[in-house]
Amino acid sequence: MKNILLFSFLIILFTACSTSEKIVTKYVSDCIYYEIPTDLRDETQTEKSIEYYKPGLTGKKIFIDPGHGGSDRRNKSENGVVVEADVNLRVSLYLRDFLTRAGAVVIMSRDKDETVDLKYRSELANESGADLFISVHHNSPGKVGDNWTNYTSTFYHAKEGYYQYEPGEHDIAKFVQRDLAYAMRNPGGLGSFDGTYSDFWIYPGDGFSVLRKTEIPAILIECGFHSNRVEEIRLADEQFNKIQAWGIFKGLGKYFRLGSPTITLLQEKSKFVNRNLELNFLLEDKNGIDPLSISAYFDSVLVSNTFIEDQNLVKLNIENVNSGEHEVRIIAANKQNIHSLPYKRKIILK
Ligand SMILES: [Zn+2]
Repeated sequence: MKNILLFSFLIILFTACSTSEKIVTKYVSDCIYYEIPTDLRDETQTEKSIEYYKPGLTGKKIFIDPGHGGSDRRNKSENGVVVEADVNLRVSLYLRDFLTRAGAVVIMSRDKDETVDLKYRSELANESGADLFISVHHNSPGKVGDNWTNYTSTFYHAKEGYYQYEPGEHDIAKFVQRDLAYAMRNPGGLGSFDGTYSDFWIYPGDGFSVLRKTEIPAILIECGFHSNRVEEIRLADEQFNKIQAWGIFKGLGKYFRLGSPTITLLQEKSKFVNRNLELNFLLEDKNGIDPLSISAYFDSVLVSNTFIEDQNLVKLNIENVNSGEHEVRIIAANKQNIHSLPYKRKIILK
């Protein structure tokens, strides 16, 4: 009886202690930091998955930009275990490997630890004529001493309602974000509903330099927070970097496999007479075009359009047009709500 009493007393004492100590982090010795996706566990499965994405990725030109490097190695985790520039590069090299195996052509702004000027990264990307630019980064919070925050986010340029906003880039961001966050088992943060963010969220009206200056379709990934004490350990592990790359690869693979509407100006069906301009565009997509999704701009001004569904033709009729150089822009989505990639075209009228 005496023993039971003593035991009860100890339990009460222990419970009282643990609640008053305010435990903020609980470590478990055999804590699972990550899981290798099932199709990355053996080479046969990996090859099978890569094979599945080949039809969409073969021949696609992807420009990968591992952020920072060389003289820019300032971003480090608190304990110095992780240098952002190095993790960005490791993830990017694994991504290059997966994409190349799927038949894509990969160009990189750097493939080793070297200094590449921010402006030069966009110039290289624009000169490459690639189908997509992906900048790979890792994040840290604004608040000093915050080692708790961690999430995966993918950025696109501008935001809804702005002329610079391209819904096609936002689509790519959604695909990459979903598969990367899933592979890392990270949430997408609370600043957006699905983990994709406008870069105007960080720099209102300007966005990120690499996204603003890059003329080819572009996204920027902040894979996770190197400042987080668990994420820091994972990011320092090459196997985990490979899992991250696999997540990005699968997002891209799914996006390109699905395809997006293509737009072609039909010059022979277009004419410019007495300051009246008629332009005809062919819209093509294996899933069919959503007629309500089409918008057209002439010199940055929204203009009405007519869609002839059985011919997949979009017609623009614009009156009182002066000769000289003009810009026409079309946006369309297919029936699965995947938008066309940025389509802006200069036309010279005589
Ligand atoms: Zn960075």
